[in-house]
Amino acid sequence: MTASLLDRRSVLGAAYRLFYAEPLALVRGSGVEVFDVAGRRYLDAYNNVPVLGHAHPAVVEALTRQAGLINTHTRYLHDTILRYAEALTATFPDPLNHAMFTCSGSEANDLALRIAMTVTGGTGVIVTENAYHGVTALLAGMSPSLGIGTAPQVRTVPAPDSYHQSGDVGAAFGAAVAAAAEDLRRSGVQVAALLVDTTFASDGIHVGPVGYLDAAVAAVRAAGGLFIADEVQGGFGRSGKLWTFLHQPGLVPDLVTLGKPMGNGHPVGGVVTRKDLLDVFGARSRYFNTFGGNTVSAAVGLAVLSTIQSEGLPDHAATLGVDLAAALDGLRRHAVVGDIRGIGLYHGVELVTDRGTKAPATALAKAVMDEMARDGILIGVCGIASNTLKIRPPLAFKAPHVTELVTALDRVLTRLA
Ligand code: PMP
Repeated sequence: MTASLLDRRSVLGAAYRLFYAEPLALVRGSGVEVFDVAGRRYLDAYNNVPVLGHAHPAVVEALTRQAGLINTHTRYLHDTILRYAEALTATFPDPLNHAMFTCSGSEANDLALRIAMTVTGGTGVIVTENAYHGVTALLAGMSPSLGIGTAPQVRTVPAPDSYHQSGDVGAAFGAAVAAAAEDLRRSGVQVAALLVDTTFASDGIHVGPVGYLDAAVAAVRAAGGLFIADEVQGGFGRSGKLWTFLHQPGLVPDLVTLGKPMGNGHPVGGVVTRKDLLDVFGARSRYFNTFGGNTVSAAVGLAVLSTIQSEGLPDHAATLGVDLAAALDGLRRHAVVGDIRGIGLYHGVELVTDRGTKAPATALAKAVMDEMARDGILIGVCGIASNTLKIRPPLAFKAPHVTELVTALDRVLTRLA
């Protein structure tokens, strides 16, 4: 163990986890490349927070310019937060034309749930069986992937998974949500919301087919609850559209939660929703988040959104995503590759020990991730059995990076499988 690992444990304690068998000490980043203390370069095919690329000049400029003027909160008038809210809500379909700001995805989900609970009068929440929605005590109880159990007013349903399930995954998802709402009702709990990550990342990345969320959303609404689309991970262009739910024609969530890429690394989160919901919430409650929507965060958020738009990153993710999917498809020649799925610049490669039984190759997935890091390429793993390689690069990824990534993955799978 290096001195810095020892120091870290003695100072930060036992709850933090590191990536990779040989943890990285990164000191600098630029675009899709990061560099460690020894000056070694890694290709970043994992981090979605620096959506524009690491240390993007537009973000650095907006942040330093505003920090040099004033950084204050939402109890004072300031134009930037209004311009940001207008620019952000303009990207959503009607009637989603109001925004509130937080400092993280967790706070965004927490706020969305407060609004949903206030409006519906319910406390019940339905999530998928390996979901992750955040760090607060409320959200930890709605994040079964943490392995600490769920809160009493929470019900879990299987994610719509076209690889492990057969038949109409959307219909099955809808039936499971209807049954969960009914189970809550029988326990004397009114359902407040169906809360789902629209990319089902923790469940292994499941996006589509078209219409696959419709039955579930109809079921929760029929039971008196609201649909919260958690776009914290999938939002801001990665899917090939600015918001992942936009791939579902006609689907308009009641609340959308945002975070991670929203500030390109600066802590910015938010909720986009309808006026009528905020009218009810605002009449019964108030919301002051000291740092949420502060002047610097608003300037950064606006710069990130403007740059995503001016650089055409959603279209770029869509186009390059097709090339990435095609390149990854060649990996099917490895018997351990059970499934390859994804959308835009967001893909999962599920590793199995047996294509017939689809038994998870969990240890192999971790070994591949670690070996890729040794070879200078950063990826992750996700899924219920942690056997899906997670590819989720900054959107500054280009065609040569796709080649570098997939060539390395092919080499590592040959070496280890
Ligand atoms: N929702 C989803 C889908 C997430 O992936 C995350 C973060 N991994 C969160 C919510 C929580 O966001 P944060 O860590 O910014 O609080």
